[in-house]
Amino acid sequence: NKCLACVKSNALTIATVVGVVLGAVIGIVLRQTRDQWTEREIMYIGYVGDVFLRMLKSLILPLIVSSLVSAIASLDLSLSGKIAARTIAFYLTTTFAAVVLGMVLVVSIRPGAGQNGGKHDKFDGGVQERHHGRHPAGSHQTRTSLVQPDENETDIYKFNIESETVQTTNILGLVVASAAIGIAIAQVGEEARTMANFFHNLMAIMMKITTWVITLSPVGIMFLVAAEVLEMDDIASVMSSLGLYFVTVVLGLLLQGFVVLPLLYYALTRKNPITFVTNLGQAIATAFGTASSSATLPLTIKCLEDNLGIDRRIARFALPIGATINMDGTALYEAVAAIFIAQVRNVSLDIGRLIAISITATAASIGAAGIPQAGLVTMVMVLDTVGLPAEDVSLILAVDWLLDRMRTAINVMGDAFGAGIVHHRSQKELNEIKKDSPRVSLEKI
Ligand code: ASP
Repeated sequence: NKCLACVKSNALTIATVVGVVLGAVIGIVLRQTRDQWTEREIMYIGYVGDVFLRMLKSLILPLIVSSLVSAIASLDLSLSGKIAARTIAFYLTTTFAAVVLGMVLVVSIRPGAGQNGGKHDKFDGGVQERHHGRHPAGSHQTRTSLVQPDENETDIYKFNIESETVQTTNILGLVVASAAIGIAIAQVGEEARTMANFFHNLMAIMMKITTWVITLSPVGIMFLVAAEVLEMDDIASVMSSLGLYFVTVVLGLLLQGFVVLPLLYYALTRKNPITFVTNLGQAIATAFGTASSSATLPLTIKCLEDNLGIDRRIARFALPIGATINMDGTALYEAVAAIFIAQVRNVSLDIGRLIAISITATAASIGAAGIPQAGLVTMVMVLDTVGLPAEDVSLILAVDWLLDRMRTAINVMGDAFGAGIVHHRSQKELNEIKKDSPRVSLEKI
């Protein structure tokens, strides 16, 4: 009975995870007859997933603006300053920890050692031909700007449902602008109450729509994964050259997400990190399915508020910022990938270079947008530190779609753990606000 109740309350999470697995299975089965498929037909399979992704994306802008404005407007300025400082300090520390972890792993495992020129030329050639038509702006731009443009691919892209509308929204700019509006509302006070209410209400409406979209996530994610698996390069040949690199990144991501962050959470809150992770299941699965922290944001907020009881003012403040600047998985991956490429190219790295990599990898992860394969674009910065050309990202392209999904899941976990810890550490401030605040309280709405 207890078991049944548990299944019931986690039905959507379970369905989402089943969606991921089923999608992979469907993809593998369909691959058997892949020769008979035209690119267009393959695109149709991705279509359902794309529609789902677009729905999620349409929520991002109003969600970020309304959540940040209303969260900041309802906090006392000096207190919100403290909470903001705490949040950003946590994000930076964990990002840097991820980078160091990745560097230790890649330097000790040395996945790129012994790969001489001839061998990696093999994967230089073929990998960038994989069609990525379904992906939103990020990945496609990566291909056209960093790698050689592929006429064929551009053609397919024209049929792409995402091509016209979905651009990389300048989310960081949005975050700053929303923060400014929130602070202004808080300072104006009573006179701006209507506006404060407006943003509160907008947020409530967006969260309502989010719940609708979320019910579609198992199906949407199933199709997203199926199409990706159907399109991917031949796993066996890719793994023979990139296998160890892949393992290094995955090992780092797992350690960061399931050891470092949970331990930190336990140390700082004395709460059970396993419960935390299980309650986050749906957001993690969606991050994997969409490869976008921003698109996952609505679910992350929902999981934290509804499943974990995190204060709304904290969740709505810390999560949008986290989805934009805090990417533990991406930071780790950037460091590992840059050093891996240096190993392949036989570029030796002294301690000074390693320190430079750690700093640029952190910066590159902050600069990466929460969209698919954004990290691949900002990798150029890190490669530059090592003195390697941007084109060398082609060395790791073949497995990037999968690593992208995994690092996005860890990115989202990092944001959530951050919000959980800041929530715990900010009880005093939150209570103070409750006691004597004439402000519009989020609780009332
Ligand atoms: N896809 C990642 C994210 O949205 C960013 C990246 O490419 O690393 O979090």
